[in-house]
Amino acid sequence: MILGCPDCGTIQSVPPLPSRAVALCRVCDNPLEQTAGRSLDAALAFATAAFLLIIPANLLPFLEVSAIGITGQSLLSSGVGVLWREGWLVLPVLIGAFAVVLPVAYLGLLVFSLGILRLGWRPPWLGAAYRWASNLSLWAMADVFLVGTAVGYSRVIPYLPVRLGSGAWCFIAAAFLTMLCHACTDERGVWRAIAPPPPRLPGPCLSCTTCCALQPIAAEGHRCPRCGARLSSRKQDPLVRTTALVSAGFLLYFPANIYPMANQIQLGQTVPHTILSGIEQLVKAHLWPLAILIFFTSISIPVLKLVALSWFLLSVRRKSPHRLRTRARLYRVLHLIGRWSNVDVFTIAVYAPLMQFGQLGAVRAGLGATAFLLVVVLTMVATRSFDPRVMWDAAQGGRQ
Ligand SMILES: [Zn+2]
Ligand SMILES: [Zn+2]
Repeated sequence: MILGCPDCGTIQSVPPLPSRAVALCRVCDNPLEQTAGRSLDAALAFATAAFLLIIPANLLPFLEVSAIGITGQSLLSSGVGVLWREGWLVLPVLIGAFAVVLPVAYLGLLVFSLGILRLGWRPPWLGAAYRWASNLSLWAMADVFLVGTAVGYSRVIPYLPVRLGSGAWCFIAAAFLTMLCHACTDERGVWRAIAPPPPRLPGPCLSCTTCCALQPIAAEGHRCPRCGARLSSRKQDPLVRTTALVSAGFLLYFPANIYPMANQIQLGQTVPHTILSGIEQLVKAHLWPLAILIFFTSISIPVLKLVALSWFLLSVRRKSPHRLRTRARLYRVLHLIGRWSNVDVFTIAVYAPLMQFGQLGAVRAGLGATAFLLVVVLTMVATRSFDPRVMWDAAQGGRQ
């Protein structure tokens, strides 16, 4: 079959693969085809089970706490409500979207589109439904929220007797099943099942930026017949958009680190916690693995994303032919790890509803949390808006 590599743009022929095999792009080493551990039936089974569990996860008690004679319960969405009542806007809206709304929407759409495919139906809107599910997979962050829950739970447990509620157990199972579903989904295989590619294309062609279908170059600007995305040989204005988003990310990175992520109120006194002092607190509590985890997700990954994207932009401007494969590999890493920076912000949404004892003890989000969440979102959008193929175009002295 003929494929267009989404990372370097090379159009190449890939023979049918045996089981447990990987076909790498001959130019940039991008895994173009992978047969090991991929199965549509398994993906559908995991997605269905995760969808059936994510609904009770939202309705049943998430965490239960009893202290100083007060017994309380929190739901998965309680943190969103607490942050909203504290007067924050961006923080509860984005956390509610990433942790509550989008996981349900993503799993529902995925079960729906894979189920229809499994039944052998091929309605014309199936490609668009799967495209939406595929786009949502990046923003549906049940897995990241699960790690945030583990960190939040570990932070609260020394002070409060907290128990996981039945909703939390459903959520843990749903998040693991979603990860298994990701691991065994063969995206290209699903796209081929939705509409098989033509055996060969006459003349010059372009590769759809969403489903990688090859289309005649004359179709640029029209809708992809398979996934319904607007066809263009390269993403729209990748350099201008990415530069604007990365600049905004750099600007917000400073308030994100200077202002407190959370303010701890203890017996009427307010103790602010920035990202760094939060890590210091974890070290003092001998929670080394969590301290290392927060250091990587809150400090290393955002810096890596901002620096790496700046490097890509600069190398395109300089038409640099150096380290193209390294840059392509790094781009794939950024795409994979970017969403994990949300762990620390999600942690606040987990423990804030539990620590509500008025002047005796409470946790309130700080300005740093909004700034940090915006850095994460801006760098994720920047990574998506950048088109790695322009690095190859620039190295070859502009597109042919
Ligand atoms: Zn490639
Ligand atoms: Zn397409």
